[in-house]
Amino acid sequence: MRILLVEDDESLGEGIRTALRRAAYSVDWLRDGASALAAIGAGDLDLVVLDLGLPRLDGVEVIRQARRSGASVPILVLSARERPSERTLGLDAGADDYLGKPFDTHELLARIRALLRRAGGRAAPLLALGALELDPATLEVRWRGRPVDLSRREFALLRVLLEQRGRPIGRESLQQRLYGWDEDVASNAVDVHVHALRKKLDPALIRTLRGIGYALDEPTARGEAQAQVQP
Ligand code: CA
Repeated sequence: MRILLVEDDESLGEGIRTALRRAAYSVDWLRDGASALAAIGAGDLDLVVLDLGLPRLDGVEVIRQARRSGASVPILVLSARERPSERTLGLDAGADDYLGKPFDTHELLARIRALLRRAGGRAAPLLALGALELDPATLEVRWRGRPVDLSRREFALLRVLLEQRGRPIGRESLQQRLYGWDEDVASNAVDVHVHALRKKLDPALIRTLRGIGYALDEPTARGEAQAQVQP
């Protein structure tokens, strides 16, 4: 899952970026409103965490213009507690949720999970497919009842595949959801992680669709796999 963080306060931004990365999200961090609007317009984002007081273009204006141009990405606003009218403006401009500063990082992460659930059309907090279970809150993965130890990228890759509910997803799209703009990525990075997941879980779990990409498949119940994804 790829998150755009827009925050001009360096130390706050650094703290949020670290927390998001620990939660296995890929993070792109921008510090002004105009760049944020351009990035939202370019697409391929799963969520935006947006400060309102920003240089070059005010946060509320970023939301307004992004929504006017048709961007549907979930936007979580960070706003100063002493300005409740800003939150109202932000929500009415098209933001999906807000958090008053100062905030607890755990609450920020929980709100992000809730927004991603809604965006994915899910209500259940766990992502599951047959004997595979992933908990986005605890970062735990269980396969056939036993816990599996995954790296941060492997976890992120599995989360994206599970969010896709068995639909195929292209290699490039997967790569964009795993790595930020400023990260050096080997051209076969996604394949390496897919290989690791197959080894740790089940060789038949991830299907390769030649020329398309990858899809998750429950190996013991092909055909029924998609129906078993929790809503
Ligand atoms: Ca600010």
